[in-house]
Order: sequence, then C-alpha cells, then structure tokens
Amino acid sequence: MIDIEKIRNDFPILEEKVYNKELVYLDNGATTQKPRQVVDKIVAGYYNTNANIHRGVHFLSQKATEAHEAARETVREFINASESKEIIFTRGTTEAINLVASSYGEHYLNAGDEVILTEMEHHANIVPWQMLREKKGIVIKVVPMNDKQELDLESYKNMFTPKTKFVSFAHVSNVLGTINPAKEMIEIAHKNGVKVLVDGAQAVPHLKVDVKDLDADFYVFSAHKIYGPTGIGVLYGKEDILDLMPPYQGGGEMISTVSFEKTVYNELPYKFEAGTPDYIGSTAFAEALNYVSAIGLENMEEHEIELLRYATAKLKEIDGVVIYGNATHKSAVLSFNVEGIHHYDMGMLLDKQGIAVRTGHHCAQPLMDVLGIEGTVRATFAIYNTKDEVDKFIEGVKKVVSMFK
Ligand code: PMP
Repeated sequence: MIDIEKIRNDFPILEEKVYNKELVYLDNGATTQKPRQVVDKIVAGYYNTNANIHRGVHFLSQKATEAHEAARETVREFINASESKEIIFTRGTTEAINLVASSYGEHYLNAGDEVILTEMEHHANIVPWQMLREKKGIVIKVVPMNDKQELDLESYKNMFTPKTKFVSFAHVSNVLGTINPAKEMIEIAHKNGVKVLVDGAQAVPHLKVDVKDLDADFYVFSAHKIYGPTGIGVLYGKEDILDLMPPYQGGGEMISTVSFEKTVYNELPYKFEAGTPDYIGSTAFAEALNYVSAIGLENMEEHEIELLRYATAKLKEIDGVVIYGNATHKSAVLSFNVEGIHHYDMGMLLDKQGIAVRTGHHCAQPLMDVLGIEGTVRATFAIYNTKDEVDKFIEGVKKVVSMFK
C-alpha cells in the first residue's frame, strides 16, 4: 500500500489555498504538480553545477555534461529503449512530433502518400501533419471510433493501401482516457511496411511503457505531465531510422565540423539537439522519473484507476450527467457535461470552490466535432489525489447543478 499522505507532503503546492479554500487540483492531464525533490534538483543545478555542457573542459561544465547525459540514460531506462542515443531531448511532445513531421515527413513522404491519424488526436498530432500536407501534398486519413470512444480497429486495418506511409496516434486520449491498443496497431502498420509514431503524452505518466516491446518507431512525451519540469520532453526513435533522417534545426551542438563550404552533422542524439539544451531541466526530469519509479507506476495506476472508478460512479448518480470516454481500457481522465450547463460555467463555479478542472475543447477540436459538442469539463487524477478530494469535486458539481435548477 502506498502512503498518499506522505506523497502529498512532497508537493508543497497542495497546501496552497484558492479563494481561501483548500485546493483540489484535478487538472493533472494538463500538467502535474512537482514534488519537492524535482524543484530542489532545479535549484541545486543552478546553485551548484551550472555551466554550459558539451563544450567546456572546465570542472563545472564536465559535471553539468555528466548530469545531462546521466538524465538521458535515466529516460532510456524508464521507457526501455536500447540505446541512450535514441533519446532526443525536445521542448516537449509538440516539438517532438513537429521534428518527426518535418525531418522524416519532408524527407520520406511525397504527394499522394497517406498518413493515418485518429479521431481522438490532440492538435499537436494533427497540425504538424496538416502543415506537411500543405508543403508536400500528403493525404491525411482518420481512424473512426465506436460508440464507447474506442478506435475501430477493423476500419484501421482496412485503411492501409500501397500509398500509406505513416501512422501517428495517441497512446492515451487526453479527453476520453481511452487507452489505445498501441502494440497491436503498430504490428498492423509494420505488416504493411509503415512506420509509426506514438504520442505518449498521456500514457507515460500512467502506464508502464516499453518502447522495445511496443516496437514503436517513434515515441514522444513531455516531462511536465509526469511530475517533471516544463519545457522539456522526449523523442524516442529507433537508431537506424533517426540515423537516416536529416536534422530538424541547425546551429551549435548539432554539428561535427562547420566551414562556409560544408557542414558535417554530429552523431545521434546531438544531430537533433541544436543549441544549448535544457541541461537543468533534463536532470530535474530524471529526478521526476526516479520519483515515479520509487513509488512504482503500477501502484500509481492502481490508485488513479480506483479514484476514476469512484468518481465515475458518483458522477453518474447526478441527473443530466453525460460522460465522454467509456472505453473498457481507460486511464484516469473523466470528461463530462451536465445537460443545460455550459462546461465553462461548470469550470468557473468549481474553481470558486477551490476545485481546478479543465474546460473547453482540450486541444482536440476535431474530436469535439465528432462528439457533436463544443467542449467538456475534464477532471484528471494523479498520485496525490484522494477520495476525499473526489467527494469535494462531486459535492462541487452537485452544488453547481443545484444553482442552475
Ligand atoms: N498530445 C497529447 C495527447 C496531450 O495531452 C498533450 C498535452 N495536452 C500534447 C500532445 C502536447 O503536449 P505539450 O504541450 O507538452 O507539448
């Protein structure tokens, strides 16, 4: 059994008052709060070992370089990649997808080639492909969902044609919580000779992800959604594929030699890391992953799913509640509306009670169109949330409902 009270003590922000009320933070899908260990690591990095990495012969630069590369190794181990050079640090999920769409997409995809996405994608996994469509004339195809908001795998299988060249999909939907059968989907794509990117932004914080077992060609996620700092994330890519891809940005770090006549690019992973990297962020990121590993992702998932089940059952008792995302395999995301109440009003009135939830389209407007709604209220759970907080959330929703009666 994990000790949630002890865990809560690691997160100073949970002590904050909102409008003089105790904070109930249920916006973890947008970003999680940070444990003291992670914030301490950032402070210690700046106070004790700050120096630009990879370039200096001096003591501090070497220490900072070692810490940054050790962080890369921690990430590698966390997702079970084969080599740490397969771990590219980016600004986050969004930049990682843009990198692949730009570098791989512009190099390997041509007019008429098909890219398969799904109805439940975040804008970060739609817009970069649309930008590529504008540049190269690729065709975007979209996997539909069934009435439980699970992907229709038969449609997916039937979508492949000789023109299909790439698949990109979310492992876990940020709106519906649906856990997509990533391994199966990758296998189907590979049988068709098609490469796959998995958007793991909402998966890595909740599920044990093993990129080798999945056989993903690319896997991307952000540190800030797994108790780490903002502004850093990961592109995992198979070495042989990354090796053949051209750089995404040019500058320092990503070169081996430069003259005005010719530049030779650096080896992996540096070829894709132009400029001074967030070497303080990377070490804090590794600290967050160590924090999660010490608790155990399985334990975290169990706790979060228990909260999800409890909250879902309680929410369903309220008249007029419609829940979006009823997949059999579901992560700790609870999206809903109450008939006659705008999601924005619900969010505002919950906020006044100290309850932080997300409202709106959640950067998934095409999904909202499919669902025939403008937005939802979304509660997302993390390791530090409690049943008591779920009770407060449910009471809060009931209060708003009664105000509208
Ligand atoms: N994909 C999914 C499924 C997400 O939930 C998010 C964050 N909301 C992103 C991509 C984008 O992540 P970031 O803003 O950290 O780049």
